[in-house]
Amino acid sequence: MDKPLLSVIVPSYNEEENIEAFYRAMRDEVASTHYRLEIIFVDDGSSDRTLVELQRLAKWHSNVKYVSFTRNFGKESAILAGFQHAKGDCLIVIDADLQHPVELVHELLLGFEEGYDQVIAQRDRKGESFVRSSLSTLYYKLMNKVVDVKLENGVGDFRLLSRRAVDALLVLSEGNRFSKGLFSWIGFDQKVVHYENVIRKNGQSKWSMQKLINYGIDGIVSFNMKPLRLCLYAGSAILLFSIAYIIFTFYQITQTGVDVPGYFTLISAILFLGGIQLVSLGIIGEYIGRIYNETKRRPHYLVKETNLDRGIRYEKAK
Ligand code: UDP
Ligand code: MG
Repeated sequence: MDKPLLSVIVPSYNEEENIEAFYRAMRDEVASTHYRLEIIFVDDGSSDRTLVELQRLAKWHSNVKYVSFTRNFGKESAILAGFQHAKGDCLIVIDADLQHPVELVHELLLGFEEGYDQVIAQRDRKGESFVRSSLSTLYYKLMNKVVDVKLENGVGDFRLLSRRAVDALLVLSEGNRFSKGLFSWIGFDQKVVHYENVIRKNGQSKWSMQKLINYGIDGIVSFNMKPLRLCLYAGSAILLFSIAYIIFTFYQITQTGVDVPGYFTLISAILFLGGIQLVSLGIIGEYIGRIYNETKRRPHYLVKETNLDRGIRYEKAK
C-alpha cells in the first residue's frame, strides 16, 4: 500500500451524461500508472440527475467520492471543497465534461515526478467562437498589464498540484476565490504542458457572456488595487487640464474680450465629469462590496450530502 495516492477533483454542475463516461476514462487512464486513485466529484447543486448518477457510481466503486452542495455555489467553491476533502499526495483538478483530455494525466504525473509542484495544462483555443477567443486574448493582454500576478491565456483550472501546493492554497482564506489568480499567487515550481482544445460533446457550457464578463471583472479586482489608482490618475489629469483651461479662458475673456461659447463647454464638462465620477464610484463600490462580503465570513458552500468518511463537514467560520 505504499503507492502514492492521486486525488482527482471534478466540479460537476448538471453533468448527468458525462459522469459515468468520465469516471471510466479516468479510471482506465490511471490504471496504467503506479498511482492509487480517488475521484472526488463535487456536485455543485445540479438540477439534473447528477447526484443520482454519483450515488449509483459510488455504490459500485469505492474510489468514487462525492460531495453534493445544497445549491449552486460556483466552480470556485466546488474546487475548494475538493481540496478540503482530498487526501492525495497530488491532486488534479479537471472538468467533468471530457473537454480536458484525461490522456494528459500521464504527462501531468510525469511533471509531478520531476519534482514540480504545479503542472499546468495549457490549451489552444481551437473550435472556440472567434469573438470569444479574440476577447479572451485581448483580456489577458490587458489583464497582465494591470494585475500583479501573471495570468496566461488558455490556462485554466486544469492542472496537477502537489500536496504542499494544495496546503498553501487552503491557507488562503478569502471568500471570493479567483482560482486562476490564487494558483499563480502561491508560486512554487511550475511546468506547463500543452493540449488541443476539445469541443464539448454532452450538455452545455455554463458560461454565458454575462458570466464571463463578471469573471473578468473578478480577475481584475480580486488581485490588485490598480483600478483605484487609475481613478486617482484620471482625476488628477482632469484637474490639471481644467486648471490650465480656466487660466486660458480667463486670459481670453479679460485680455482679448472674446465671447466664450457657453452651452457646449458647460454640457461637455458636466457629462464628461459625470461619467468619470460614476465610473470611479463604481470601482470604489466594487471594492467596498468585496470588503462587505469578506466581513460576513460566510462559508464557501454548504454540503447536502456526501459519502466521504469524514462525514458532512461545514467549513469552519473563523
Ligand atoms: N461547473 C461547476 N459549477 C458551475 C459551473 C460549472 O461546477 O457553476 C463545472 C462544470 O460541471 C464543468 C466545469 O465546471 O465540469 C467547467 O464548466 P463548463 O464546461 O460549463 O465551462 P467551459 O468548459 O465552457 O469553460
Ligand atoms: Mg467545458
